[in-house]
Amino acid sequence: GALPIIDILKEEIKRQGLEETVTIVGTGCQGFCEKGPTIVIEPQHVLYTRVQGEDIAEIVASDVMKGERVERLLLLDTETQKPVTKMSDIRFFAKQHRIVLKNCGVIDPQRIQDYTARDGYKALEKVLKEMKPNEVIEEVKKSGLRGRGGAGFPTGLKWSFCQQTPSDKKYIICNADEGDPGAFMDRSVLEGDPHSVIEGMLIGAFAMGVDEGYVYCRAEYPLAIKHLSIAIKQAEEAGFLGDNILNSGFNFRLKVFAGAGAFVCGEETALMASIEGKRGMPRVRPPFPAVSGLWGKPTNINNVETWSNIPHIIRHGAEWYAQFGTEKSKGTKIFALTGKVNNTGLVEVPMGTTLREIIFDIGGGIQNGKAFKAVQIGGPSGGCLPENMLDLSVDYETLTNAGAMVGSGGLVIMDETTCMVDIARFFVNFSQKESCGKCTPCREGNKRMYDILDKITKGEGKIEDLDTLENLALTIKETSLCGLGQNAPNPVLATLKYFRHEFEAHILEHK
Ligand code: SF4
Repeated sequence: GALPIIDILKEEIKRQGLEETVTIVGTGCQGFCEKGPTIVIEPQHVLYTRVQGEDIAEIVASDVMKGERVERLLLLDTETQKPVTKMSDIRFFAKQHRIVLKNCGVIDPQRIQDYTARDGYKALEKVLKEMKPNEVIEEVKKSGLRGRGGAGFPTGLKWSFCQQTPSDKKYIICNADEGDPGAFMDRSVLEGDPHSVIEGMLIGAFAMGVDEGYVYCRAEYPLAIKHLSIAIKQAEEAGFLGDNILNSGFNFRLKVFAGAGAFVCGEETALMASIEGKRGMPRVRPPFPAVSGLWGKPTNINNVETWSNIPHIIRHGAEWYAQFGTEKSKGTKIFALTGKVNNTGLVEVPMGTTLREIIFDIGGGIQNGKAFKAVQIGGPSGGCLPENMLDLSVDYETLTNAGAMVGSGGLVIMDETTCMVDIARFFVNFSQKESCGKCTPCREGNKRMYDILDKITKGEGKIEDLDTLENLALTIKETSLCGLGQNAPNPVLATLKYFRHEFEAHILEHK
């Protein structure tokens, strides 16, 4: 509903004669999705939420709009439909630390000037003028950044593999094939701050000796593709992309590739096959992409959020970045909060923040005063965690040990009314439909798991089905070829571990 609001705002500003003093900036997602459409008045940093057309005249006539400094909250609560308050006082923002999302919801993503005005492309300049490729890789290694796409592999180390493979041609790829149900982190970064991804890729390309790159973005994200394409064109015109970038002799070209929306194409080898025009199916590794990737050439793939962290690390230094997070999981992580939580939206928190802080402090707790039941973290590859695990620190090791995973960052919150068998069935159904069919355990095993879960939800299950389900899940996990199959059983195993009584209740009450 934001676009019609902009039109009304323009009209009202004109009507009240404020055209000379007020500028309207259309931005990307500011994160507070539950309270949208939002208007932020800068520099007072005042937020209006759930703005309706009829609110506009009052907002434009307010003292805030006329540049008055606001020292007090104008309205106290965001629940009142048209509240006004200082953003930093809102709990949703207070506990966040925004590095990757720094520009999202602030700048116009279609104007490179907005990005450069906030130090955009300064990190690229620093790299080209002051650093050697090895120094860049060392800096990224020292920062402790790990891949934000799910696996959490150390980014600097991954770069060094590609850098060390001798070849006349190398590629880098940005994986923007985000497809988990409930995840919209990468989409929002591309829509709201596309230049940060381009700048990160430029720095990576320089470090690894690469002159060509792709952003593989799902076609269901047309606005992300549009903003990215505009940003690439602007960066080319400004001399940040193309030949002899900033007179350094470094060349880099970047293309956008629209993927057709297969979940498996988020897997690196399937993604590269898709760019090559083949059916998107994973292949056995080794060879790893760093040795033989796109068209058989050394290739490095990182996801949107990983690339977007890079300019910040270079500009502020590895030590600055490493101060956030835990010993082994540095920096921040973006999460998409969805489901039965009050403040659905996009949040960025330091690694090590607890699930409770994310769901209750930032997310504002459970809708309609209901009790929390579980959180699915990591999408169809992750797991459901119950109430007694809410004080777990969100970092790669802790969540994996608990049977979930950080994953790409989807957090689906469930309340006391949610049936956990239904949830397991939902995610297995997703995985069985998205299985590419190449290997038997995943292709057949997920279907069989779905059949058993379906039977149980219909009251036709037997208690011995639970052992079959568990054995099947463990076998699929052990024997599948790629991450989709290896992780597809996680929601089943986690729900069986933490909510077995619900499976048993389904079976026993129909006996
Ligand atoms: Fe395809 Fe599943 Fe095998 Fe992966 S595990 S290759 S998605 S069939």
